[in-house]
Amino acid sequence: MSNPPENITYEIKIKGLVQGVGFRPFIYILAEKFNIKGWVENRNDGVLVRANTDPKTIKLFIEAVKNERPVASTVETISVSEKAFEFFDRFSIKKSESNSDVVTEVSPDIAVCNDCLEDIKNQTHRKMYPFTNCTNCGPRFTIIKDLPYDREKTTMHEFTMCETCMSEYSDIYNRRFHAQPVACNTCGPYYTLHFQNNKITDIQKIISLSSDLIQQGKIIAIKGLGGYHIMCDAHNESAVTQLRKLKNRDKKAFAVMFRDIETLENYAFISEKEKEELLSWQRPILLLKIKKFLAPSVTQELNKIGVMLPYMPFHYMLLNRLKTDALVLTSGNYSDEPIITDNDVALNKFLTKTDAVITYNRKIHNRTDDSVGIVVNNKLRLLRRSRGYAPASVAVSFNVEGIFATGAEFVNCFCIGKGNRAFMSQHIGDLKNLETFEFYKESYELYKRLFRFSPKYIVCDLHPDYLSSKFAEEIIKQHSDIELIKVQHHHAHIASCMAENNLNEKLIGISFDGLGLGTDGNIWGGEFFINDLSDFQRFTHFEYIPVSGGDYVSKQPWRSAVSYLFHYFGEQFFSIGKSYIENNDIHKIKMYTNILKSGFNIYKTSSAGRLFDAVASLIGLIQESDYHAEAPMLLESVVDEAVTDSYSYGFYNRCISFKPMFESIINDLNNSVSKSVIAAKFHNTLVDLVVETSLQMRNETGLNTIAVSGGTFQNKILLEKVERSLFEHKFDVFTSSKIPSNDGGIALGQLIIAAAKKRPFI
Ligand code: ZN
Ligand code: ZN
Ligand code: FE
Repeated sequence: MSNPPENITYEIKIKGLVQGVGFRPFIYILAEKFNIKGWVENRNDGVLVRANTDPKTIKLFIEAVKNERPVASTVETISVSEKAFEFFDRFSIKKSESNSDVVTEVSPDIAVCNDCLEDIKNQTHRKMYPFTNCTNCGPRFTIIKDLPYDREKTTMHEFTMCETCMSEYSDIYNRRFHAQPVACNTCGPYYTLHFQNNKITDIQKIISLSSDLIQQGKIIAIKGLGGYHIMCDAHNESAVTQLRKLKNRDKKAFAVMFRDIETLENYAFISEKEKEELLSWQRPILLLKIKKFLAPSVTQELNKIGVMLPYMPFHYMLLNRLKTDALVLTSGNYSDEPIITDNDVALNKFLTKTDAVITYNRKIHNRTDDSVGIVVNNKLRLLRRSRGYAPASVAVSFNVEGIFATGAEFVNCFCIGKGNRAFMSQHIGDLKNLETFEFYKESYELYKRLFRFSPKYIVCDLHPDYLSSKFAEEIIKQHSDIELIKVQHHHAHIASCMAENNLNEKLIGISFDGLGLGTDGNIWGGEFFINDLSDFQRFTHFEYIPVSGGDYVSKQPWRSAVSYLFHYFGEQFFSIGKSYIENNDIHKIKMYTNILKSGFNIYKTSSAGRLFDAVASLIGLIQESDYHAEAPMLLESVVDEAVTDSYSYGFYNRCISFKPMFESIINDLNNSVSKSVIAAKFHNTLVDLVVETSLQMRNETGLNTIAVSGGTFQNKILLEKVERSLFEHKFDVFTSSKIPSNDGGIALGQLIIAAAKKRPFI
């Protein structure tokens, strides 16, 4: 006997980011609204619903799920099927069952919401409570130890809920219903201020004392969401200089947290889109153009500043109390080490070097840095993908199960494949640092456990010396059943952009970056490919330039300048480049050219990064870099955007030659043309050659789709103009956005290439 049409049992499977974001109570309340009976349950692979209702209501219900879902959730698929009729007398929330190897998403951490900020002012048991959170906000990934997402599986398991919290947690109509990190002044974690042998735990005192200290120019280490920060008054030059000394950081700009968006608008130029991203629940650091300077040492030489808005209750409480409206908030680490997450380590390292340390007693299980981005052509481009974004997955167009992509080396993120999802790790860092490499290995273990992952394929870069490649080789040695796949660096860059944009076709791939080993043994980095996901052909590239000095080449831009000049002008360079040589150490240059002549310990490179270095050095902006990519950043920062002129370049042996450009730059220098104009003309030259080469490639191949990626495209001016010009020439242009175009995005490309190569066997 069939059931009456108004009472059918439906099964609804919802996949996407649906755990830890208040999805079950949302479904519950929605079901009540539609008078639907049944249940909702968290599964490893998403949210499962049983709903007894009629065909018309179920449609409305599904629409409402899509349109009214919680702010931090994403819904990727909803499937509905009819089931054998079951009777339910009400709608309920079932307890989580870990019943499948197919995982769902882990929510990234969410900035404190406005309702919770109100609660901090008004709710008796949460007055000034700095760990206030609800289903719409609070810590997630940083405290998760395992799935499914329940309190026992987070670092909140140490805290037993008080009766009040418990009643909120159990009340379906409460904003804290099933909010796993729920806590209050009575039962939750608390802060401790360590100052001159005192340990202060009263939050009012902590806020007033720490704001007094900051106002006096003191430096404080403070535990954040995913690791420690070090902070000081961004208006106090001597405090900022002292912080530079402490961090052993000479020049690289510090990020600044502003009191609110209105304050920030006084200090930086900001578009509507940038405002929207800064205020998003992910709360990234955004690079903006400076309008009014803070203490000079905050940004030093650049015209951009990394800014962010408060995202933890403590930030709001502190900035409310402070007279200063801006805090330097830099990661709590020294040089290349990962940010510190552990209280004892932090006390040990910071107590003697800073004026005070603020800890709290909830553990950080997963380290995350602040994410960093820039808005280009009205689109967010992440440069560092971590807090707020990781470990949200990327949906890819085919099966990537069992693939572990080990990433690059200098800016590492790794990636694992589960079904049609690619899980990119949070920003790991430079693997050459011992602690960072440990962090890498630990994180891989964590991802294996969290996402029920076991590798069948391991992918690494062609470069045998990358520690990520060595790590891959090591695993292979121990597991003969795992297959190793090596992927060329720039193919991976382009494929990363393709995966993010769901492209699976033959196209024009353009990749500019600092360095990546090529299949011919040379160092590539100014590349035009015809490629699909599984293979590539090199169409053309920047002309090879012999350089020498290993790691020093990227640290000493003068080496690139001399390499280019010597390559194009030989001995004549000493007369042609006279003014350049006069402004530099002639002995050093002579020694270097002798090495180049000898051909000993030389490698050839087509790197775009080195080209930027050469031009920056040539016009006297910089000879020795203090941090990675300083020269390209400086060159971009001096560009006069009103200049539309460019230099000419040539083609030599099917390669792009910059000889005409260098001749003209030297001419310009001799005619006292300003750095800003030369830098602008240089940028425009690159745009010209990208467009001309793309047109030529379209002519020869008929291809019209272009994927653009690589670290050089972190350059706002370059990316803006390249993207626009290619659009104007009616190309279908795709660029990186939520996955970094720098080496931090490489792992996604490696993963998708391996999957494409191995299809249909995965
Ligand atoms: Zn909240
Ligand atoms: Zn409580
Ligand atoms: Fe690269």
